Amino acid sequence: MEIQYLKGVGPAVAAKLNKLNLFETKDALTFFPHSYQDRRKRKKIAQLVVDTDCFLVGKVLRIDESTKGNFHITKALLSDETGQISCIWFNQPFIKKNLKIDFPVFLQGKVEFDFLSHRKVIKVIDYEYVDARNIDRIVPIYPLTKGIYQKQLRSIIEKALELELINLKDPFPENIRQQHNLLVLDKAIAYFHYPLDEKTYLAAKHRLVFEDFFYLQFSLAINKLLTRKQEKGIAFKVHNTLSSQYFNNLPYKLTKAQERVISEVRADMQRDIPMNRLVQGDVGAGKTEIAMAAILTALENDYQVAIMAPTEILAYQHYQKMLKYLLPLGIRVELLVGSLQEKLKVRKQYLTASGSAQLLVGTHALIQDKVTFSNLGLAIIDEQHRFGVQQRSSLMKKSGEVIDLLVLTATPIPRSLTLTLYGDLDKSILDELPPGRTPIKTLWLKKMDKLTIDYIKSELDKGNQAYWVFPLVEESEKIDLKAATEGSQYLQNGVFQKYKVGLLHGKMKQKEKDVIMAMFRNKEIQVLVATTVIEVGVDVPDATVMVIEHGERFGLSQLHQLRGRIGRSNKPSTCILLSTTRTLISKRRLEALVSTTDGFKLAEVDLDIRGPGDYFGSKQSGLPTMLVANLIKDEKILLQAKQVATLLASDFRNPLYRPLIEALKLMPHLYVGLEGMN
Ligand code: ADP
Ligand code: MG
Repeated sequence: MEIQYLKGVGPAVAAKLNKLNLFETKDALTFFPHSYQDRRKRKKIAQLVVDTDCFLVGKVLRIDESTKGNFHITKALLSDETGQISCIWFNQPFIKKNLKIDFPVFLQGKVEFDFLSHRKVIKVIDYEYVDARNIDRIVPIYPLTKGIYQKQLRSIIEKALELELINLKDPFPENIRQQHNLLVLDKAIAYFHYPLDEKTYLAAKHRLVFEDFFYLQFSLAINKLLTRKQEKGIAFKVHNTLSSQYFNNLPYKLTKAQERVISEVRADMQRDIPMNRLVQGDVGAGKTEIAMAAILTALENDYQVAIMAPTEILAYQHYQKMLKYLLPLGIRVELLVGSLQEKLKVRKQYLTASGSAQLLVGTHALIQDKVTFSNLGLAIIDEQHRFGVQQRSSLMKKSGEVIDLLVLTATPIPRSLTLTLYGDLDKSILDELPPGRTPIKTLWLKKMDKLTIDYIKSELDKGNQAYWVFPLVEESEKIDLKAATEGSQYLQNGVFQKYKVGLLHGKMKQKEKDVIMAMFRNKEIQVLVATTVIEVGVDVPDATVMVIEHGERFGLSQLHQLRGRIGRSNKPSTCILLSTTRTLISKRRLEALVSTTDGFKLAEVDLDIRGPGDYFGSKQSGLPTMLVANLIKDEKILLQAKQVATLLASDFRNPLYRPLIEALKLMPHLYVGLEGMN
């Protein structure tokens, strides 16, 4: 039922509830409290202690109103069997109308000492009329939105739950529930909103955390069964024909770490067990060379290769690099991205399907249905953390054979996450930066000054280049774009008059973006004003300066990725963060960035500031949002869920588990790629 038809809601309130993602009454089932109020811990008036918070119930004896300057004050005298106390509301003139003399109310407030009257008073935080249901229990506290009050929302959710819980069937068979100590679903939801005590709360939470993990694991497990029935993959041979030509022509020597990881990758490829390898290495560690080694090995065996990157700019960069090195070796490289003209796309799809295109570089466009390969043998995903779980498996299904997979990421991944998302991946760590890199110097300035501008100019005069980054978020896209555009004009006509300033942002046509990037690479542009489109992967080694406007508006890992665009050669680089922020959290972020360039250390700080829930939100990791679970704290339940999921998935056609499959169908992000299972 639509939530607006619930008694006491109506269209106006419903519009506000929509903002909380409450559209239908059934949405209440997964609308969980972020904390609770334990109203069983009530105090009597005589027990109240100054400077503490309290809950109490008392009868209203008298109500007074007064004004003092701009303040409107409502004062109610409350009594219980142990005494009386004044309770105060500021600037809520409607309170008087709502309070009724001689009726008992429930109050939450802060006890303070009033020096004028020499008595204790209560500054009221919240109050409601006593009805037997909600004064002696633990009540939920929900996230709010403007114009909705806690007690109002509480009552709406309670009504919706009453309606929905009666019809809620638990998809888990009873024996499985008992075996694994899982509370039945309707009870778990009811208790998670209104726990009777700590024990029921924990049991409810356990079930819901399990729920969060289970379906993800279940979907992954079925996927694995469907795609990798026979575990036999391609056993590539290392011919070293193309590889040696490529690596002998490299202008630098591979690092020890690169050599080690390349040999791990080649060893995987030579076995007839399909490769599933994750390469993790900080920004600038040289992950592209690992990809090259794998690509060349596959090409030497006459297989096609697909490499997928999260942005068109990055895909284009890879395409250019590979074209430059592989074309002379007689390899046909093609680019497939969403913004190509339809005609061109069809052509590339044809080239891929016929096998003429040997290496296909692209974005998400690669995993569309229309794309088929003639003999794909290896898939590579760059900046894997930008993709969803299922995008990986969609790419894997592009071949009739069980192909090899290599994924690259700069994001440090804790064990529990590896288990969840990359459960079946082996891990290689690229823990060494190419030699001669001087650590990037990072400064945090309140505003740009002449000294710094002079420094930037001196870098430009040496033939180096600069990025000048503006924030851009969807919510304020127009204003942000304007700031970036005006910023570039301002710089061009002002301090950088003598230089060429360019502008790059996500709203530009791909063609324009390519032209600008090419000009920047060729040094026809010296200062590139950009939004975060350059955040991942972009590699222009002579860029030695980065200015970041409004540093406080970026996340920490985003800042780290951005800064990773400089310091990519042996020239010293400088990153200048501009921010006048005074909030504690953004200060911590900026300070952390100034103090270290180590991606792992920054990830720790980030985790600490944001909390795991946020850090592993879907944007960061490609992980579906967890409603209740916390990936770090709930690792035990994750393991349990994985175990149960693997067990049930192995028999997923069993009619007993049909309800679980039906439940999965209602989660489109997890069901992608499973359509064929029936
Ligand atoms: P990332 O790990 O961030 O993807 P890239 O593969 O883009 O890093 O490499 C970063 C830069 O370092 C590139 O300009 C690349 O040419 C250079 N590079 C890679 N390996 C080496 C090496 N062994 N020695 C010197 N420079 C290297
Ligand atoms: Mg890269």
